Amino acid sequence: GKRVIHAKHYGIRRDQLHSGALKVCDRLQAAGYEAYIVGGAIRDLLLGKEPKDFDVATSATPEQVRHIFNRSRIIGRRFRIVHVPFYERGGEEIIEVTTFRGSAESPTDASGRIIRDNVYGTIAEDADRRDFTVNALYYDPNSEEIIDFHHGIEDLEKQQLVMIGDPVKRYHEDPVRMLRAARLSAKLDLAIAPDTKNPIREHAALLENIPTARLFDEMMKLLLSGKAWLCVQTLRELSLHKPLFPLLDKLLSKPDTAKFLQKALENTDNRLAEDKPVSAGFLFAALLWHEVEENWHKRIAAGEVKTPALIEAMNEVESKVCKRLAIPNRYGAAMKEIWAMQPRFEQRVGLRPFRLFEQPRFRAAYDFLLLRAECGLVEQELADWWTKFQISESTERMDMIDAAA
Ligand code: ATP
Ligand code: MG
Repeated sequence: GKRVIHAKHYGIRRDQLHSGALKVCDRLQAAGYEAYIVGGAIRDLLLGKEPKDFDVATSATPEQVRHIFNRSRIIGRRFRIVHVPFYERGGEEIIEVTTFRGSAESPTDASGRIIRDNVYGTIAEDADRRDFTVNALYYDPNSEEIIDFHHGIEDLEKQQLVMIGDPVKRYHEDPVRMLRAARLSAKLDLAIAPDTKNPIREHAALLENIPTARLFDEMMKLLLSGKAWLCVQTLRELSLHKPLFPLLDKLLSKPDTAKFLQKALENTDNRLAEDKPVSAGFLFAALLWHEVEENWHKRIAAGEVKTPALIEAMNEVESKVCKRLAIPNRYGAAMKEIWAMQPRFEQRVGLRPFRLFEQPRFRAAYDFLLLRAECGLVEQELADWWTKFQISESTERMDMIDAAA
């Protein structure tokens, strides 16, 4: 039952939408194509939340879109989309333009996973191929109408997340939809409908088929959703963490490591709520610290030298984790620097504290130390010492070092 509703009934005005996305729609429509703002942005506006990104769906093929916007580029292979850049508020913002997906069967692998999805179709077919009913809402900036193909607005009112079509089939086609269910339900405070939720547990292992880079991207979206702690608990409740992040069970089963993780994630959630930057390196450092520490202490007990033992432990944990989750180098490097600096906080002699303080990653490593202290993983006295050191004059710092020795 397709429904068309004027957006004004939901208090949505054209000027609340991203001007770049509006321009993209206008130009596509002027060229004779259909074009709508679709998905998360419309859903978020209906919920009274600020959309994170604006996606456009159109009847134009990627080549036709590419032809209209001269700075645009076609990206993706499994799922081709066009990125149209806009320069606004001082930075580059990208509008993602996708061509209506068709209903023809797309090629799949042996597990039913869609390996290519570039068959084009009508808007109604496109709506059927989207994941959740609340994501299949199309806004036409010209008529200011919302087209709702799958009772998405009703589901939003009922605060429920419902998979379009047969959930089991949809999870086989793309197992990442299970992770999206966990993330969107936590982020938007929606209950996962029973038929959508029930099959997840027994299909979690399908995630093992997903390329590690895509899993990393999804993990980032979870951790940066603003509801990271709730997302992680939801993952565990749905058994989705096993193929993604098996260490989570161990972390959450012990009170002190669970507390450490909770504090780290809540800290991130709070920073995001205040529009402060968060570091992915810091997040992964927190998620994996327990594993590193355990490995490190084992090595020390076996007679290895402290500092090289830590480096060995770090490398071993990283390579184990990267088998499931490809942590890009830029984050991996920050994560390892944060870890490697932890024992150096304890060396309060001579010029060492001064040298440590000059490290580019000092701030992140110090925040990490505070977190460890807060959870009783290191002496509070050490964290306090460093807090004081930073705000002291240099003569006072010398005295502090003498006193600590
Ligand atoms: P947010 O941007 O807030 O994280 P979103 O729902 O907009 O959430 P995007 O990844 O931006 O997520 O995707 C845009 C739209 O594309 C979705 O609203 C949904 O309609 C569709 N979509 C995304 N991923 C999938 C998928 N795996 N299967 C089917 N449809 C999808
Ligand atoms: Mg989006």
